[in-house]
Amino acid sequence: MTPVRVDADESGVRGLMYRASITRTMPPTEEVVCTDEDCFLDLFETHYTYDVPDGFDVTALSCPVCGGTDCLEPVDL
Ligand SMILES: [Zn+2]
Repeated sequence: MTPVRVDADESGVRGLMYRASITRTMPPTEEVVCTDEDCFLDLFETHYTYDVPDGFDVTALSCPVCGGTDCLEPVDL
């Protein structure tokens, strides 16, 4: 009986850790397109850490290819 009980406890802990890891991946991931017609970048994806400020958005970014800032638009997934 004891080994069964230990297994159940372990899976319970693993379940809690799994849920915690899902919660930790919650910070926003965005896909951003560059709309500059002379730019060959289609889209890129941004991954933020927990340190991302509230209200941060793509207007604070610049295109990694053309360097433009007005040409970036977030994609609604
Ligand atoms: Zn661009």
